[in-house]
Amino acid sequence: MASETLECAHNACRCMVSSSLDDAGSDPLPAYCTDYCRNEAENREEHDVCDCGHPPCDSP
Ligand SMILES: [Zn+2]
Ligand SMILES: [Zn+2]
Repeated sequence: MASETLECAHNACRCMVSSSLDDAGSDPLPAYCTDYCRNEAENREEHDVCDCGHPPCDSP
């Protein structure tokens, strides 16, 4: 079982995401720490700050 720690794929986000690769892990997806980040990234909304609520993003 493989796992790596990646930075959240949302540009404004500084969280780390542990991505576990399944048996179906041949197609690596961008890792997001929350659905919030996924939505922001998919909507291509560019914000200076991330509002995911995790500690790395909570402090200025
Ligand atoms: Zn964040
Ligand atoms: Zn994030």
